[in-house]
Amino acid sequence: MGRAAVAIAFLFACLFFSLDVAGCLSHQDFIGAAGTRTLLQEDVKKHEVHCSRERSRIASKIIDQYLMPFVEQEQYHLPNKCRLHHDNDIFREQEEHKIHVDINEWRCGFCKKSFRAEKFLDLHFDNRHSNLLDDIQGRCLADLCGALHCDQMVESKKAKTKCNPAAAARNRHLCESLADNCFPTSQGHSASRLHEFFLRQFCDAHTCSQGKKPFSQGGKKQTSVFYLAVSILIVMLLPLFYVLVYLHQRGMKRGIQDLKRISKAGKKTKSY
Ligand SMILES: [Zn+2]
Repeated sequence: MGRAAVAIAFLFACLFFSLDVAGCLSHQDFIGAAGTRTLLQEDVKKHEVHCSRERSRIASKIIDQYLMPFVEQEQYHLPNKCRLHHDNDIFREQEEHKIHVDINEWRCGFCKKSFRAEKFLDLHFDNRHSNLLDDIQGRCLADLCGALHCDQMVESKKAKTKCNPAAAARNRHLCESLADNCFPTSQGHSASRLHEFFLRQFCDAHTCSQGKKPFSQGGKKQTSVFYLAVSILIVMLLPLFYVLVYLHQRGMKRGIQDLKRISKAGKKTKSY
């Protein structure tokens, strides 16, 4: 049974390690995003595109994670005038032309030049391909960050800053106008349900009173991590279960054989 104990310990070590790696990776994403923000903001200013690429990317992540799964579930199509629509993100075309070849290699999809890190590719886009950005008003996702809780996403681990009632009211107003434009209640049941959902998911938390948290309705990543954890657990525990059953059965067989041997020996000694 010593070997079985080692096997169990190893399997659990593997399980915790794999979960931790997944957690670390997703966390690192956001740390990286925050670290390069100032650098990029300077660069964006230089090229007179008054929209932060970094914050637009965070807003886009939030939309993909906490909104789109529910929109798709309702089979609803966001209207073009809705500022949350993918087409209303000026950086979308560039982001789609990022090729992540390797952990240390990012390639430009327009001119195929390679870079060591994503931030260098971002700078390359700003320097070489900024002509692709048509800076039309209302296409900057970063402008919606107040409503979408981008800061919460980046600074979730940091100490909370003091709540500003005026800012909260402003963000709430922006949030509600997004709900009205993207999910007009006159557009049917799906739109009405999503309108209500959007208020709960994003707008309710724009208050200084305690207890209201954004993304209260959940999101894609949380469920997928949960299912991943459960499936890893099952995949790892299943062989363990069979090993234990096998060892148990072998032990039983040996025990029975020993019993038989003892009883045979007993009979033999009795016959003498
Ligand atoms: Zn290029």
